[in-house]
Amino acid sequence: MKVLITLVSIITFVSAVSADRLVRVHGVTTGTVQQLLADGYDVADVNIRLGYADLMIPEREVDQLSLLFADYELLPREWGELLPENAKNAGYYYSPEENWLFWCELAASYTDLVDTPVTIGQSYQSRDIYMIKMTSPVGSGYKPPIYFSSLIHGREPGSNIVLIDFAMWLTSNYDGGDTMAAWILDNTTVYFVPIANPDGYAYNMPNGGNQRKNMNWTEGDGVDLNRNWGYMWGYDDTGSSGDPWNQTYRGTEAFSEPETQVQRDFITAIQPIAAMNYHTYGGYLLYPWGYINSPTPDQSTFEAWGSAMTAYNEYQPGRAGQILYPVNGEQNDWCYGGNDMQGILAFTPEVADNSFWGSQNDTTEIVRICDECRYMNIWLCMNAPGFVGVGEDEGVSIEPVLSLGAVYPNPVVSSAVFTLTAPGSTGVKVAVYDTSGRVVYNITGEMLSGENTVIWNITDDIAAGVYILRATDSNGFAASRRFTILK
Ligand SMILES: [Zn+2]
Repeated sequence: MKVLITLVSIITFVSAVSADRLVRVHGVTTGTVQQLLADGYDVADVNIRLGYADLMIPEREVDQLSLLFADYELLPREWGELLPENAKNAGYYYSPEENWLFWCELAASYTDLVDTPVTIGQSYQSRDIYMIKMTSPVGSGYKPPIYFSSLIHGREPGSNIVLIDFAMWLTSNYDGGDTMAAWILDNTTVYFVPIANPDGYAYNMPNGGNQRKNMNWTEGDGVDLNRNWGYMWGYDDTGSSGDPWNQTYRGTEAFSEPETQVQRDFITAIQPIAAMNYHTYGGYLLYPWGYINSPTPDQSTFEAWGSAMTAYNEYQPGRAGQILYPVNGEQNDWCYGGNDMQGILAFTPEVADNSFWGSQNDTTEIVRICDECRYMNIWLCMNAPGFVGVGEDEGVSIEPVLSLGAVYPNPVVSSAVFTLTAPGSTGVKVAVYDTSGRVVYNITGEMLSGENTVIWNITDDIAAGVYILRATDSNGFAASRRFTILK
């Protein structure tokens, strides 16, 4: 009898942890979302405009929902899990094996455009994280890098299919006289990291598909790799969680996880000028800041680009804090503000897939999401190279304020003079960048608290042209000024 009871309880336990359901709760406001997050819910999507939030709920809690929420609906089972019959091939999405084959075959078919996949590091469970470099033999010298990634969250296969589609579009249209694909590959270098969380994605194939985090289960059930980046990591407990069992667990320290280290090192090595770090779902195009609901110094650029990129798919552009809720330690903020490079213009598209797995048996939906994201990718690749560096917005300030005065005189002939106010900041670095985002000169010196006047005598090796002066403090706060050098 005892044996039987034990057996029954084990079976119950196993089915309880493996089955989750997506539930759509109606009547949701910004305040409700904060409460849901504070209560530790796995919030899959929020739509404030339509007033709902999708929650991933363990199956065993489904019958208690009526006690918790006045108005809710259970979403179709295949929206929240990979169905058993699709465990091998992820349905119409691309499984890990299908991804590898696809990228290898693409490289073999277009040897002059696509390099074979290159391993850039290993995951927690020692799976390879690989990248694919794509560019044409046309054009010489510097071709600005643009970075694409997907599947940092293991349960978002719609993010990956969009990259596969874009890679196919670039290659198949290159020889067909399509000026856009040819222009992109002749003038830029496109990098893809299609599976940024290979352990979580691989785990999902036989296990129903709900692993969002990585597979470092030392403390709980994984680390949210998109809360583990080293800019404003752990800024507060709403934008990420210190609870190892929470879906937004940030890890023990910034960049504690091998997967985020691998991407960090690769991005640092290639120095992209722009990035698209894909997620699902909801139909948004997010840009920094993520950790607070405040504009960056480049708000006007993000806003202009965001609305241009979403002109056709009508995704909602904006900051996470405006549309969803603040998120800290995430990839965009680090790309833009948390590294020694010129700020990367980084976006997080949230593909408007039918939840996480909703298109697994539906080619029409797969085609739709690929179609509606392609234009954003094309637009970014065609416009980023012509963008002359970080902008200068008057009247926009971030706390604590690091401010850089206009360069005088402008144009500069021999000496540039500017003021730098850095209240409470330490370790302020000032560098001059060219319009491709490369450092051409480091202006060193003792930067004191309060206002400093800096005189920079321009050396002979710096050519005439347009440059960006950028100051960064040890917290990653930055300010920029554009100026011209005449010789
Ligand atoms: Zn995600």
